[in-house]
Amino acid sequence: MGNLTRKGMLKHGLMIAALALTASCRNSEVPRSDVQGNTRAPAAVMSTQNAHDNRVAKDVFGHIPTASDQRSESFGGYARGCQAGAVQLPETGPTWQAMRLSRNRNWGQPVLIDYIQNLSRFAATLDGWDGLYVGDLSQPRGGPMLTGHASHQIGLDADIWMLPPDRLNLSRQERENLSSISMRRERGAFTNSSWTEEHMQLIRAAASDPRTARIFVFPGAKVAMCNWETGDRSWLNHVRPWYGHHYHFHVRLRCPSGASGCENQAPPPAGDGCADAQTWVNNILNPPPPDPNATPRAPRGPLTMARLPGQCLAVAESN
Ligand SMILES: [Zn+2]
Repeated sequence: MGNLTRKGMLKHGLMIAALALTASCRNSEVPRSDVQGNTRAPAAVMSTQNAHDNRVAKDVFGHIPTASDQRSESFGGYARGCQAGAVQLPETGPTWQAMRLSRNRNWGQPVLIDYIQNLSRFAATLDGWDGLYVGDLSQPRGGPMLTGHASHQIGLDADIWMLPPDRLNLSRQERENLSSISMRRERGAFTNSSWTEEHMQLIRAAASDPRTARIFVFPGAKVAMCNWETGDRSWLNHVRPWYGHHYHFHVRLRCPSGASGCENQAPPPAGDGCADAQTWVNNILNPPPPDPNATPRAPRGPLTMARLPGQCLAVAESN
């Protein structure tokens, strides 16, 4: 049954109940990058204890094997922060398996673990799905990673494989070797023949959970769901077209209510976002000429400890 510790479950049991309440979006800033979730840290999370700590943060957070023995809390934003008191998603459950265990990225805030388990139970009701294959969540203490994602830093992001599980008894080695499958054709303008109604039902369920801030998926999938939905379209607001995301979709939860050190992104623009997704698709099919006035973004070095919220120093140094 995996290795979620009893102690951890007891410690976090109350938190799960408390954090399941919906959070509001306090941050009205427009994010620099949708999927990365970069926003300026609010003053509340800044501290000076790490002001001169120029260690590269991924070198610190990328090697810590266990969660911190602290109250569960996210600090900072999705692409610039860390997590205290993380919970490990059990490697195998009745309706899920965590993949690529060697990465040790099956750690998240209690609300995320609860969310994934809940979504996996729904997935198991779908035709052809035994549950979910779950990709990366966060590192045991969150923070930047040595490889891969810019976000997934505060224990509120998760990648869910598009491959429908037909069995949930994969060995550790099989979970290293098995690959998900792509759902796209024409560079993401359209879904391919692997895409099914069940994928849409799953993503609709994921997006309809009030804890969800955003779901990232390739543009052709968003348009497919826009065309498919004949009822309530409000969930489509949370489904955001983005690069990649055709082997998995990415779930991002809101900051739990009362988590004062956790920084929400601004909510997506009002409406179902379907016209914007269609425009993206059109641009894939007929790329517009490059914008001559575009200013290249200045390259920035890797995140240092000094650029993370001050609490992240304590998270890294905690037992
Ligand atoms: Zn992701």
